[in-house]
Amino acid sequence: MTRLGVHSIYRATEGEGVFVGTPQIFVRFQGCTIGCINCDSKETWEFTDKTSSIEDVIAEVEEIAGQYPNRVKRVSITGGDPLHPQHAGGVEELAGKLKQLGYFINIEAAGTRVVDSLFDVVDFVSFDFKTPSTGVVTNLKLLEKTMTQYGKKAQIKSVITDKKDFEFTYDIYQNMLKKNDYKLDAPWVLTPCYEPHEEFPKDRFIDIITMNEDFGSPFRVIGQQHKWIHGPSKRNV
Ligand code: SF4
Repeated sequence: MTRLGVHSIYRATEGEGVFVGTPQIFVRFQGCTIGCINCDSKETWEFTDKTSSIEDVIAEVEEIAGQYPNRVKRVSITGGDPLHPQHAGGVEELAGKLKQLGYFINIEAAGTRVVDSLFDVVDFVSFDFKTPSTGVVTNLKLLEKTMTQYGKKAQIKSVITDKKDFEFTYDIYQNMLKKNDYKLDAPWVLTPCYEPHEEFPKDRFIDIITMNEDFGSPFRVIGQQHKWIHGPSKRNV
């Protein structure tokens, strides 16, 4: 019987990316070895022995969905790192079963792996391109594969802390566009960094929006609205 290392399951309104404002059910996996410096969910890093059966996870999703008159028929599978080899097989099975139940499935990919058999099944892929401030390097081949193979159902997402992050991201995107004859579909979203315990970084938001406009507006700048509303440290919102 498949067991899943799940951190939490909860309903919330998407706070970031192109689906911002959309109510959905989050299935957050426990365990990540990527180690982004500015990670805002470090409590999901540690792998533990606590697991749930896939049937129990689906039952919980269905129970939450059923609490609302219009049933929330969207699930976002996130982490931690749901594509870590320890999770990927179970995540694929979970995604397949939820699809059979009629859910729209988004997968939050940390940008370190592309799992074709899973990406083919899900409805949407959010793929992280890691900026210098994260201390993590994204494999450009995986980025390009996501943008070309899954571009019609993907977004690329980058956390931006400063000008260095912005310029680095801009250069990579321009090179990627040129290389692919300016025919890439996936929107690229910049998420201004908003760290736990930090005051709302209004100046950083303004700087990033201004830089994007000055560079010809290649990106969409979308803040994390759940952090504006609930504060940057509140969980499961
Ligand atoms: S991949 Fe996600 S969970 Fe893992 S360290 Fe980076 S931001 Fe945190």
